[in-house]
Amino acid sequence: TADKLAAALASYDALLGDDEDDERIEISATTIHAALAHGEIRPWFQPQVELGNGKVVAVEALARWVRPDGQVVRPAHFIGLLEREGLADPLADLMLEQACQWKRQWDLQGLRLNVSVNISPATLADPTAADRYQRIVQAQNVDPGEVVLELTESSVMADAARALGVLARLRLKGFGLSIDDFGTGYSSLAQLSHIPFTELKIDQGFVAGAWQQPRKRAVVEASLDLARKLGLEVVAEGVATVEDWQMLADLGCSMAQGFLIAPPVAPEDLPAVLAQWRRPES
Ligand code: C2E
Ligand code: MG
Ligand code: MG
Ligand code: MG
Repeated sequence: TADKLAAALASYDALLGDDEDDERIEISATTIHAALAHGEIRPWFQPQVELGNGKVVAVEALARWVRPDGQVVRPAHFIGLLEREGLADPLADLMLEQACQWKRQWDLQGLRLNVSVNISPATLADPTAADRYQRIVQAQNVDPGEVVLELTESSVMADAARALGVLARLRLKGFGLSIDDFGTGYSSLAQLSHIPFTELKIDQGFVAGAWQQPRKRAVVEASLDLARKLGLEVVAEGVATVEDWQMLADLGCSMAQGFLIAPPVAPEDLPAVLAQWRRPES
């Protein structure tokens, strides 16, 4: 499995090019508008697996800028600029629409997968977002109950009262709501408990290596406990080794996502990647 992980990481690095390459990309407001308009920004997908039985039950859509020369650019290099250019809404709409299109296609192949989509903080200030997302999903014949919207803990807590309006509306329409990067946002637990989340994602910074670091493990255990008491699904992010997997299974965590299972992959490649996945033996 160590070999398998090394191989997965090597192929992932090869796809992305090395970091230096990534850094050298010049991205201006003009190029990012053009990239969006030309369909060069699209979702890749990373599996989410049930720890109990190893079954892949969902995928998270992660934005990639796939340039005409084949170079794949990660979101850290362009999401901030897109948001500053006022393009957060078009990005969310296209990610949601394409994630639903791919979901329908996988349904037809007998792969039943829920989809998660990351949503920018700007959406939380937009009272029309809930109706729009409902229309987008329904146009693709997908039930909102099969879609999870991920919001980072810090984006929600920046103005929890305002966020509550949009989030409650989305929840009423049946969307799942996930707190992303949990543990990094200094939330007030009192505020958090008033927002109708359905899922909590433990940030990868606490997950990777927690099996040998008691302080990280304490955060993981406290998060699992909170999720259980609030009735939330839990996804551990950044599960990268068999030891991480085993610890989470022992602690009763329900779902795992990370390089141990698979990195984010192009949608065309997902069925083959899922067919190769075997859960670690315990
Ligand atoms: P996130 O939503 O927390 O997504 C998880 C990130 O962790 C992804 O990075 C994923 O590739 C990476 N990851 C997954 N497993 C592992 C692992 O085992 N080890 C390590 N080291 N990393 C792992 P990515 O795709 O570069 O995305 C970074 C962030 O960009 C996302 O964090 C999310 O906040 C944001 N993002 C991505 N796509 C979108 C989008 O369509 N809209 C918005 N608003 N934000 C997005
Ligand atoms: Mg996410
Ligand atoms: Mg996260
Ligand atoms: Mg993150």
